[in-house]
Amino acid sequence: MENKKYVYLFSEGNARMRNLLGGKGANLAEMTNLGIPVPQGFTISTEACIKYYEDEKNVSDDIIIQINKAIQEIEKITCKRFGNSDNPLLLSVRSGARVSMPGMMDTILNLGLNDITVEKIVKLTNNIRFAYDSYRRFIQMFSDVVMGIEKRKFEDLIDKAKEEKKVKFDTELDENDLKKLVVQYKKLYAEEIGKPFPEDPKDQLIESVTAVFRSWNNPRAIVYRRLNDIPGEWGTAVNVQTMVFGNMGNTSGTGVAFTRNPATGENKIFGEYLINAQGEDVVAGIRTPQPITKLKEDSPQCYEEFINIAHSLENHYKDMQDMEFTIEQGKLYFLQTRNGKRTAQAALKIAVDMVNEGSLTKEEAILKVEPKQLETLLHPAFDTDEIKKATCIAKGLPASPGAACGKVYFTAEDAKEQHEKGEKVVLVRLETSPEDIEGMVAAEGILTVRGGMTSHAAVVARGMGTCCVAGCGKINIDEEKKVFQVGGKQYSEGDYISLDGSTGNVYGEAIKTTLPEISGDFEIFMKWADDIKKLQVRTNADTPKEAAEAVKFGAKGIGLCRTEHMFFEEDRIPAVREMIVATTVEQRKKALDKLLPMQKKDFIGIYEAMEGKPVTIRFLDPPLHEFLPSEEEDIRALSKEMGISFDELKITVASLHEFNPMMGHRGCRLTVSYPEIAQMQTTAIIEAALEVNKRKGFNIVPEIMIPLVGEIKELKFVKDIVLKTANEIIDKSGEKLKYSVGTMIEIPRAALTADEIAKEAEFFSFGTNDLTQMTFGFSRDDAGKFLDDYYENKIYEFDPFEKLDQIGVGKLVKIAAELGKKTRPDIHLGICGEHGGDPSSVEFCHNVGLDYVSCSPFRVPLARLAAAQAQVKNPR
Ligand code: PEP
Ligand code: MG
Repeated sequence: MENKKYVYLFSEGNARMRNLLGGKGANLAEMTNLGIPVPQGFTISTEACIKYYEDEKNVSDDIIIQINKAIQEIEKITCKRFGNSDNPLLLSVRSGARVSMPGMMDTILNLGLNDITVEKIVKLTNNIRFAYDSYRRFIQMFSDVVMGIEKRKFEDLIDKAKEEKKVKFDTELDENDLKKLVVQYKKLYAEEIGKPFPEDPKDQLIESVTAVFRSWNNPRAIVYRRLNDIPGEWGTAVNVQTMVFGNMGNTSGTGVAFTRNPATGENKIFGEYLINAQGEDVVAGIRTPQPITKLKEDSPQCYEEFINIAHSLENHYKDMQDMEFTIEQGKLYFLQTRNGKRTAQAALKIAVDMVNEGSLTKEEAILKVEPKQLETLLHPAFDTDEIKKATCIAKGLPASPGAACGKVYFTAEDAKEQHEKGEKVVLVRLETSPEDIEGMVAAEGILTVRGGMTSHAAVVARGMGTCCVAGCGKINIDEEKKVFQVGGKQYSEGDYISLDGSTGNVYGEAIKTTLPEISGDFEIFMKWADDIKKLQVRTNADTPKEAAEAVKFGAKGIGLCRTEHMFFEEDRIPAVREMIVATTVEQRKKALDKLLPMQKKDFIGIYEAMEGKPVTIRFLDPPLHEFLPSEEEDIRALSKEMGISFDELKITVASLHEFNPMMGHRGCRLTVSYPEIAQMQTTAIIEAALEVNKRKGFNIVPEIMIPLVGEIKELKFVKDIVLKTANEIIDKSGEKLKYSVGTMIEIPRAALTADEIAKEAEFFSFGTNDLTQMTFGFSRDDAGKFLDDYYENKIYEFDPFEKLDQIGVGKLVKIAAELGKKTRPDIHLGICGEHGGDPSSVEFCHNVGLDYVSCSPFRVPLARLAAAQAQVKNPR
């Protein structure tokens, strides 16, 4: 049992071992096998991380023994020794989960340095400055990243040293300054931690490995996992790698490059590098990097080798690669390769280009684009007239495309808070770090003063599809005072600005945004997805405008038209309230007579917008509290309208109060009490269809859907009213009209008795919002208040109202689908809860054999792609 292997040399792994070695570790192993120059090292597996948590946050002895053995192997390969020797082995330590995950531990470089080894490095390199600069960086990183001492405290010490010396740049500090800094840093460390800085490299290493494991469960990582559907049980691996130095003078350097442009998808190497620097300098945006093409001038031979390897990696992985490299005194090393994060535009262009180049099949290409990313393509661009008149106040790097307009906020907390209040916000930061993730998620756009195209802000914003302008150095920002200045003007918290993430332009005003079209690569790609997928995609739409928008995005019908939403409009609310508070059939019929022409007009609009495509209209399903008048003046106005006394109406309103309206008098229960509501709605649905069919020559077959059914007799009761009303109208019209009657499956009892229900229902539509609410037994309106505690305690990892709980709620869906088909083999099955627009839930719907998913208009392309991916992964 204790012989289990937890530590793998790079030469022992391969790309298929991603689950065990993490993405980074698996790729380092694969590159080693491909003969690419990789500084050698080893990966501590994700299983070791899981064991760490099982062992109550302890790195067990058997793992430490395996780490020490691996170190010995690396010592053999490199002819260096870890510890106090004449040729000391220095290491880097990096986290590496199955999928790359910002928010976890950053890199530790130069591990192994102490007061003795630093002198050995001086001797070996003949470069005191280099050795002490590496040492002070290591102390700073270790203190910050592993021990949690604020980075700022170290930066203050450097700033003080520069001030005393009256210089501006770190590079102007000489060897003696750096030696002094090392002493000051170690003093600071001892004061903060209460123990001296660890001199033993083995202790440094185990502390760092532990910090990586710990970082898997830091709050930022947990938030990121929830946003990206990453299970907590995966754990992270740790990569320990021999250091190579990009800061050994002018024949050294370090950089980051992509095989294609991650913003546009253009098939051209894209990247940045810095001469005489370590990786952190590029990522942190402290110095402005050179374009990778400059390497061709500085070192043609390294450039050529780099390009050849980059191309071979792309061919090998059949995907755009994001690579980190270092050149140490003229010798090129690859430190990392991974499938590069890219904008949605780039993802589509790369997928389409790679099919055209013959390197991918259409099915493979379909899997290369994240469904959730497509939503970003449907997000706004600037109004062409307004943008012409706007003045650009500054220009930064076009780090993540799109247009954003919002009020300026300077901290992630403020951005999040204002967003929650309904404001549109733009987050403005000197530079972003993983702590800012929630503010970045909340923001329409992100503007940073520092950092390049590969800075944290740029990478994360692209991943999220949020507009970002990075490295806008012209802006003078004071994060404490919460203001920035540019061009002699000051912008404070709450002022409007607009960002163009495709040009890097910043505007000091609000600019209207408009919606884009599906065209070009997007259109081609979506056509492939449609050809492959088996699930139909419909939309949830309540107005002709929404319906038309959804058709533009590829919806093939309406899966849910919530008729109560039409009642919210100002001119209708009085009639709706009249209907609800009516105490006699006459009063109710009077109110319904007012509503009938309005409803009919709505349905005509929707049928016309859908041009003959199927439309499912659901009967009224209002939790009554949403409509009841609560203000005295509304009750007074209504009493006048109805010709009854204020006091009488007030008593009626009070009597309609429900303790739990979501489980109250709603859905089909209303029709059981007041059949005239179903009569009115049936009349509107049927008359509208007859009229539009006749006028436009369509063949609309209305699908009438009855909500909140839990018992077959309940469904039959309402259905009989529908049939009687509809058939009378059709007979009277002398026209022919087909229609169907079905039900929502949103109450667990309906799912469990679906074989019975299917005797009356011609179709089922799974209302997984209510089904989730009633299966979990918590309210969809209130769960948000306590779900955070559940995430924190790792009881739930995601919101079951966003992502279908496949184990529990999904089981009911599966049971109901099977039972329904047993009774009625041709029963039409769909889903119209919010989950219809969630990729993993769409995949589930494909797997259990539903016919369609229905989601909000903006999610239609996403659902089309998720459906195609489900078919590629699991053909049916
Ligand atoms: C549902 O319950 O899943 C559903 C679609 O209905 P509503 O959200 O309107 O209750
Ligand atoms: Mg419902």
